Amino acid sequence: MKTETPLIDNFGRPLNYLRLAVTDRCNLRCLYCMPAGGIEYIPQSEILTYEEMERLVRLVVRLGVRKLRITGGEPFVRRNIMGFLRRVAGIPGLEEIHMTTNGVLTAPFVPELKRIGICGINLSLDAVDREAFRRVTRRDEFERVWASFQAILAHGIRLKINAVIQQGMNEDQIVPLARLARDYPVAVRFIEEMPFNGSSASHGRQHWDYARLLAELQRAFPDLKPLPGKPHTTAREFSVPGFQGTLGIIAGYSRLFCDECNRMRITARGLLKLCLYDTGMLNLKEMLRSGAGDDQLEAAIRRCAGRRFANGFQAEAHARKANPAYESMSEIGG
Ligand code: SAM
Ligand code: SF4
Repeated sequence: MKTETPLIDNFGRPLNYLRLAVTDRCNLRCLYCMPAGGIEYIPQSEILTYEEMERLVRLVVRLGVRKLRITGGEPFVRRNIMGFLRRVAGIPGLEEIHMTTNGVLTAPFVPELKRIGICGINLSLDAVDREAFRRVTRRDEFERVWASFQAILAHGIRLKINAVIQQGMNEDQIVPLARLARDYPVAVRFIEEMPFNGSSASHGRQHWDYARLLAELQRAFPDLKPLPGKPHTTAREFSVPGFQGTLGIIAGYSRLFCDECNRMRITARGLLKLCLYDTGMLNLKEMLRSGAGDDQLEAAIRRCAGRRFANGFQAEAHARKANPAYESMSEIGG
């Protein structure tokens, strides 16, 4: 495989991790992600095809991307997602493929995910109690998600749990969720709510930010110890004596990790984002569909890398000027 000069941004940060949103469709309606009636879905013709996505993945791998995360929307609601995964799994130079899923449809696919070599799955689980789960996701699907949890562990795929905590919704689930790391070899990560719920309405509730989450974990687990930071990680991780797994906090709203951010994103509609909070720096779909060659795509991506925002606060200030409403996370992929 021919590798070009790796992509490095204007602050010297390598861009070697791609998060690809394969759809904006979803079978849950999480409060923090979309309104009760859902979002206005992108017309099918405006969503990247699998062929377009594969071409982009091959291209960025040549530019130094080594890790791919498949996300959405819910990846498993897109038809023939397994066919796509099998194809990208064969791309030379791509070292790791991960997925983020809500787990509703995931369990039956787990044996094949293992065979394909999926390295890790992030399972979104905001509650271990069926009623609290229904409150947050607006759907009564806890049982199927729990079956996916068990299937992933049974097949030995690395499992991380993502839980977004919202005041009045699931703060009573923090400790029961954390105990999953005592009982199973999983990393349980609490994520600060970010303003991507498909409307400009702010959450308006007391925010469960990094400091508050940490205080709650310390209260429940006085022996909580910080673990050494891993490069490019978004989670601050902790151990508790006797636990099989770890606990973590992802300060996505406080943005404590921008200095080391190595992520690029391609949204369901084919926009390249170099920060969660930017509004999209390049319309890759338009370029692909107007016949751009790989050299032109590469040059355009490199130009974007050369004017990346220093951090999420700068990107947000710019984005807010351009568009006061935020999109749903289901289009961006988290
Ligand atoms: N549907 C899949 C799932 O839920 O795992 C994948 C897509 S979802 C957009 C990816 C991640 O983004 C999930 O872990 C979800 O909890 C997180 N997320 C969605 N909206 C968020 C928000 N407003 N703030 C923080 N995290 C959010
Ligand atoms: Fe769907 Fe994931 Fe958004 Fe929940 S967080 S509504 S599961 S895309």
